Amino acid sequence: MRATKAIIHLNRFRRNIQGVREKIGPRPGICVPVKADAYGHGAVQIARAALDAGAACLAVATVSEGAELRAAGIGAPILLLSLPLPEELPEVIFQGLIPLVSDRDFIREAARAAENTGKPLEVHLKIDTGMGRLGCPPEEAADLAANIAREKYLLLGGTATHLAVADSSVPEDVAYTKKQLARFREGVEAIRRAGIDPGIVHGANSGGVVFHEDSWFDMVRPGILLYGYSPGPGKPEVTPVMELLTQVSLIKPVKKGETVSYGRTWTAPQDTVIAILPVGYADGLSRSLSGNFPVTIRGRRYPLVGRICMDQCMVDLGPEPEVRRWEEVTLFGPETVTAADMAAVLGTIPYEITCGINKRVPRIYRDSR
Ligand SMILES: *Cc1c(COP(=O)(O)O)cnc(C)c1O
Repeated sequence: MRATKAIIHLNRFRRNIQGVREKIGPRPGICVPVKADAYGHGAVQIARAALDAGAACLAVATVSEGAELRAAGIGAPILLLSLPLPEELPEVIFQGLIPLVSDRDFIREAARAAENTGKPLEVHLKIDTGMGRLGCPPEEAADLAANIAREKYLLLGGTATHLAVADSSVPEDVAYTKKQLARFREGVEAIRRAGIDPGIVHGANSGGVVFHEDSWFDMVRPGILLYGYSPGPGKPEVTPVMELLTQVSLIKPVKKGETVSYGRTWTAPQDTVIAILPVGYADGLSRSLSGNFPVTIRGRRYPLVGRICMDQCMVDLGPEPEVRRWEEVTLFGPETVTAADMAAVLGTIPYEITCGINKRVPRIYRDSR
């Protein structure tokens, strides 16, 4: 096994789901987004743990992500959050995925594809209440729902929206979310007034779960929260699920004035000792962390020095290090520096950090219950 590995703590993931369950109470279903290989954690294992912990449904972004879950024998409902191409519809139907639809043309295409296979297709109607991405205007929701209802081979299984700033507690953002939710309720009510059952109503991402009780409706879709990163203080308390580890490949002395790595950006300020780590930007350790991120060894932090290479990077251990060769090194983990800290250094979000851990980094699943 490679020294560099991502430990996926399934027990923490389960606990995070339980935390969401305790917060939202027994009624709303939990849909677990496992898109992008479960935010880098491994879609199949996370999906199994999620269903085991009581999730009602899963969500993916692409048809092949859905197919991977089906191939693993997962039979739960799977929402398809991004719009597929019309030519992908036969596969959507074959895999039993539930697309989110929001326009007349696509509804017609979906109905035709379903009719061709002779199998009815469940869809959810997506309403754009202010995210500005997929979704129909709230005023058109009833009309589109009627369109779906008229199609013999389509079934309206749910109605959804997506929140743009639910993770923010800035007052203007809170007000914006309230406005989005009001628009959503109007759209859903219009569907009901037209005599159509909107199905499962859902609108909450992680921010919605943590900050907006009125976004929970029949089902919530928290992603990053379940992977252990909360958008802010508040319940549930969650723990990061992924831990990125490596081991020291080589320890060697460097003389004052010598330089380390490409571009010679770091010069040893004194006689010191460096550790070479077998992890680089091709593993997802962004090159922009060069020179401004600490790794943790035996609970102590050491700075990355010089440029991060494709497959390796270097750490300054100081002149008299206690660190030994092959010792474990934490790049991020729940007990030390987290992926959120790494994201902050890079000006991004923890999602991009965990999604960015390359496939060549083996995922090791731990599940001490
Ligand atoms: C990814 C996604 C989610 C989950 O978002 P988080 O911010 O990770 O909670 C929910 N709904 C939709 C439509 C998404 O695309």
